Amino acid sequence: MLELQGIAVSPGVAIGQALVFDREGYRITRCLVAVGEDEREWSRLVEAVRKADEKLELSRVSATTKLGERLGGIFSAQQQVLRDPHLQSELESLIRKKTYSAEYAVSEVFTKYAAAFRKSTSTFLSERAADVRDVERLLLESLTDQPMATLKTLPHEAIVVSHDLTPGETAGFDPEKVLGICTEVGGSGGHTAIVARGMEIPAVVGVGNFLHNIRSGDEVIVDGHLGRIIVSPDDATREHYQKRRLYRESIATKLQEIRDLPACTSDGVRIELMANVEFPNEAASCIARGADGVGLYRTEFLYLGHDQEPTEEEHYQAYAQVVRDMQNRPVVIRTLDLGADKMGMKKLTEPENNPFLGLRSIRLSLRNPALFRVQARAILRAACLGDVRVMFPMITTLDELRSARFLLRSVSEDLAAEGKHIQCHVQVGMMVEVPAAVLMLDRFIDEIDFVSIGTNDLTQYTLAVDRSNDSVADLYQACDPAVLRLIQRTLQVASEKKKSTSVCGEMSTNPAYALLLVGMGIRTLSLAPAAIPILKKAIRSVTIGQCEAMAWRALRLSTAREVDAFLMNQLAGLVPEIVLQA
Ligand code: PEP
Ligand code: MG
Repeated sequence: MLELQGIAVSPGVAIGQALVFDREGYRITRCLVAVGEDEREWSRLVEAVRKADEKLELSRVSATTKLGERLGGIFSAQQQVLRDPHLQSELESLIRKKTYSAEYAVSEVFTKYAAAFRKSTSTFLSERAADVRDVERLLLESLTDQPMATLKTLPHEAIVVSHDLTPGETAGFDPEKVLGICTEVGGSGGHTAIVARGMEIPAVVGVGNFLHNIRSGDEVIVDGHLGRIIVSPDDATREHYQKRRLYRESIATKLQEIRDLPACTSDGVRIELMANVEFPNEAASCIARGADGVGLYRTEFLYLGHDQEPTEEEHYQAYAQVVRDMQNRPVVIRTLDLGADKMGMKKLTEPENNPFLGLRSIRLSLRNPALFRVQARAILRAACLGDVRVMFPMITTLDELRSARFLLRSVSEDLAAEGKHIQCHVQVGMMVEVPAAVLMLDRFIDEIDFVSIGTNDLTQYTLAVDRSNDSVADLYQACDPAVLRLIQRTLQVASEKKKSTSVCGEMSTNPAYALLLVGMGIRTLSLAPAAIPILKKAIRSVTIGQCEAMAWRALRLSTAREVDAFLMNQLAGLVPEIVLQA
């Protein structure tokens, strides 16, 4: 039994078989064979090479006939990789000298070659990495006589274990099959973590190097509440975690009873609980969890995992579904927040050294007005169907806000000129995610209808700590006094002008932090739908005076550790029934 500690990012306990993926999504079958079986493994590989070569030859002939010499050449290049004597002798040496299984040897050698190609500064050579992976896939398929599982088509229920996963890959999972997620790298604020939470898949990230200690088929427990991973548990441990899983499920069932009650403090102050969504089909779960609306629709997920840019109609259909499903509740559609860790297959930027400080979010949209306009048209059309509001992400300067508003207005004029039916007055808000936006909010505030504080990025940019980097995860604390002061100032400026302010970062999925925000004066919180019932319970269990007292004391503390300890202690005293012990 092996117990590992990582970062808890999506609650819940999952118990199942591991399915280990490497960075490109193919399964590594880490397997050594018994001494003396190397001859058999080598023959299997020789046979697989022969079969793969035959398939490539068929593809080459067919592509040449239908599409010409040049495209047929792609397959001859792959044949050359397959037949490369140097590569073959590496495979033979791993099998014969290190007793690797044929599959494991293929996975190791091809991963190394693909990485070497990928690192090349020549575009021609770096693009060959994909060919190497194709040949690898073909060989593995020949060895196993079945198509390789990809992240989208898992053969059975499994806990996906990987070095890293992109938000797009995670978004492509079938939640029926993926019981849990565990990665070696990643931080709690990264978008992979956010997607896992949105899909309600228990997840732990940032576990550190451990893939060499696990192989597909091993039994694994993922405790997404404690951030714990257990490989090959003994009977007592398995039983302990089964009980934890049942206990969590029983809390969830009890919380369903308050689903249709408002999120009011016990002395009657109404808090709006909105949902953060990434996919249109999540609207149903917002209603099931009793959400008051959608406070953040992360529309960039329409791009992730697709190689084509969505058309205006595809944008429109996605928004229309959310707006209709939310049945007249407000829906805040955030314009594209692409870039950094959220990239579609088609890269919209050149590789950047510091992508979180680079061409991401509103900057990317303003550099690509055509992209922005397609989305803006769809949003304005969908606004006829209900209470739709538009929100711009990562606004840092007033010029950006004005340019984004200008584009929105011109799109609206175009639609009107085309005789399209659109909503004339759509509320427009901005996210506060950069310290500059807080410092300058008094200049922005007259030009917007509402403010939403994105504490995930605000924490990252205030504390200079990458939200997806596990090496600095201990520094990534939304309750850091510096972040709290920025939230406080945002609230002051917005409330002077009577502009509504919400918090839509992950901070409020922690009920202790959410009560602090309520005590500071926030009346609208937007969070993952699955986290709404617990938060509603917490809010209904306290008075506004208790929240204010919590905030008063928390704001006088000097370190994130002090604030966190104080808030967790308060929560345990005020709402003990939702605190899940280790
Ligand atoms: C945030 O930064 O807090 C936020 C809500 O946006 P995202 O997590 O999508 O960057
Ligand atoms: Mg953000």
